[in-house]
Amino acid sequence: MDAKSIMEEKISVYEKYKYKKFKLKCKKCGKIQDLPQHCGRDMIPFHDKLVCWMNLAPQFGGKNCGQAEIPFHHGERMEIIEV
Ligand SMILES: [Zn+2]
Ligand SMILES: [Zn+2]
Repeated sequence: MDAKSIMEEKISVYEKYKYKKFKLKCKKCGKIQDLPQHCGRDMIPFHDKLVCWMNLAPQFGGKNCGQAEIPFHHGERMEIIEV
């Protein structure tokens, strides 16, 4: 993918998560927990990782701030659910 389409993808993911609230949920036991935060906001799932919203926000144009693995519970990667 070229830089332009990567940026477009980032912006579309950012827009999707911008106005809604999401949490993490265990697929096995149903435990629900908050998404980790970075730079004052919930991190956003992007390509099987959680990234800082600044990495996706168009005004920061592909800044590389924080990144984290999606947490595991009961041996499986937790699901991201809208709340
Ligand atoms: Zn669990
Ligand atoms: Zn950050």
